[in-house]
Amino acid sequence: MKVHNFSAGPGILPAEVLKQAADACINFDHLNLSLLEISHRSKNYEKVMDEARAIVKELFEVGDDYEVLYLGGGASLQFAMVPYNLLSENGSAAYVNTGVWATKAIKEAKIIGTTHVIASSEDKKFTYIPKGYQIPSEADYLHLTSNNTIYGTQMHAFPESPIPVVCDMSSDVFSRKVDASKFDLIYAGAQKNMGPAGSTMVMVKKSALGKTGRKMLSMLDYQVHIKGGSMYNTPPVFPIYVTLLTLQWLKANGGIAWIEDLNNKKASLMYNEIDRNPLFYGTVATEDRSKMNVCFLMKDPTMEAEFDSFWKAAGISGIRGHRDVGGYRASLYNALPLESVQVLVDCMKEFERKKG
Ligand SMILES: *Cc1c(COP(=O)(O)O)cnc(C)c1O
Repeated sequence: MKVHNFSAGPGILPAEVLKQAADACINFDHLNLSLLEISHRSKNYEKVMDEARAIVKELFEVGDDYEVLYLGGGASLQFAMVPYNLLSENGSAAYVNTGVWATKAIKEAKIIGTTHVIASSEDKKFTYIPKGYQIPSEADYLHLTSNNTIYGTQMHAFPESPIPVVCDMSSDVFSRKVDASKFDLIYAGAQKNMGPAGSTMVMVKKSALGKTGRKMLSMLDYQVHIKGGSMYNTPPVFPIYVTLLTLQWLKANGGIAWIEDLNNKKASLMYNEIDRNPLFYGTVATEDRSKMNVCFLMKDPTMEAEFDSFWKAAGISGIRGHRDVGGYRASLYNALPLESVQVLVDCMKEFERKKG
């Protein structure tokens, strides 16, 4: 039976990408060698790294003032690397707290230097995106999280900022058009919306670096990784390759304009049903609803067990909510087809009929 994968992360990848990745494990680039057993310095792999870096700039439509890196350590390491590289010894950083991931980013930044939380939605359990806050013009940077994977909120507009903006786009990178030139640094753990776990994409404006006055540890220094062409040490070769295949799949199907349109259709289908169906309700402020992670609850939680066996029987996987929110979370990442959302919506309708 076909499985409809709504996993929040690691998330769904395109079927043809998985096939290509499997082939490369056995025979990469007609070498009769596995991608897993060749040097990252080989011509064949260098091409992968070059293309994987270039396609990010192409999809973000930025020029040579930006550099792209693929690093280990997850998006979580970026919580530390961002302040380490951008927060000057006597300066400060401004953070907007929109949930679990932003909270973790703030914790690391506070260890590195003066960090101010200038807005937060913690008062309402992170169910909305704060707006209209003042951005301190003397801070070194403003840190945002574009999509709150756990609570299901998303920034549908970014604030006009007088200072450089850094954004954790882990769970909505390349899901929609953004003006990347407005950001000095964008990072994303690949495993939500652009590839498998194991590598994190960092796109940084070169002019933002080298200003902290701090003595830098090599592995934590973006400039060292830039100089090394993202191969200062052995990079996570396989995750980077699969990320490249995923981004090539995106581009070949019509790029950001295509996926944004499809993602809008998937999200409308899902939210329309949540709003229509008397058994369910959405958990976040309507205007801040995430198009990637759709969180919803049952009005009568005693029905959950029965609903769970119902959707499992329909081949649906991965919609149990995060333990902090409960209920359900349907993640509609790029590789999830509209058809899978239709299966879930039909399942909700059918369950309503059964109960009605
Ligand atoms: C998953 C996630 C992270 C953490 O990613 P890791 O790669 O596990 O460190 C950070 N930020 C956001 C928005 C996420 O969704």
